[in-house]
Amino acid sequence: MSLWHPLDWLIGIVLAGIIAAVSYRFRLLTGGGAFSAFFMGSVVFALGRVGFSIPMLVFFASSSLLSKLGYERKSKLVSHIAKTSQRDCMQVLANGLVPTLLLISWYFSQNDIFSFLYVAALACATADTWATELGVLSSQQPRSIVGFRPTSAGVSGGITLVGTVAALAGASFLGVVGLSALNLEIPFQFHISCLLVLICAAFLGQVCDSVMGATWQARYICQRCGSITEVKPHCPDSAVSRVAGVSWANNDVVNLFAGSFAVLFCWVGLAFICEIT
Ligand SMILES: [Zn+2]
Repeated sequence: MSLWHPLDWLIGIVLAGIIAAVSYRFRLLTGGGAFSAFFMGSVVFALGRVGFSIPMLVFFASSSLLSKLGYERKSKLVSHIAKTSQRDCMQVLANGLVPTLLLISWYFSQNDIFSFLYVAALACATADTWATELGVLSSQQPRSIVGFRPTSAGVSGGITLVGTVAALAGASFLGVVGLSALNLEIPFQFHISCLLVLICAAFLGQVCDSVMGATWQARYICQRCGSITEVKPHCPDSAVSRVAGVSWANNDVVNLFAGSFAVLFCWVGLAFICEIT
């Protein structure tokens, strides 16, 4: 396949530029976040055209809208969680890099399995953001997915009923929208079993996200105020020391792994259940 379709690239770059600029203007993305979204968006729009662009846009739009929901409650939590409503470069890469690489793989191989895996990666990212953004609004006390001890709202690895239902809803929504949109670009025969495999894989990826968040993700204690936090520094000009987890495993690393697990689960499921290879 030739990479050089000038009109596709022109449309892709202009569209990605507009979306990145608007997102920056409305504080959905930081400067770095807008920059990486612009690059990945250009590639997705240019190589994937309408069919691949719709699921990416639906993920981004739904996550952005939900991040602004319940803004006051969330801004109180921001001091001890790693996520804020304004996504930075690493957050954008943690969710967008795997789908973008899968799209490039599809483009050069023209093997439809990569298009399923592309949707699965985005469905997992959607499940994660929907679960996080809606779960923290729940009045129910979250419990750790490992051991079910009560935790504070917004802490990684904590789960609520609302968050779990939101994850399943996000995975299902993106799965249905994604496979329907792809059908416009590359008409393929897909069966309900493929959709179910994809949704289960994305949801399981999100379960892995919570397990890794509870066990593996670095947690710190603030030297000044004594809060347990996932972000450093916590209070300005004050050091933190690690009390749990692995030093390099922050929320972005966990998200990247979770998305990769979802892709792996989906690939295995498609091969063994749907016999697509
Ligand atoms: Zn502090």
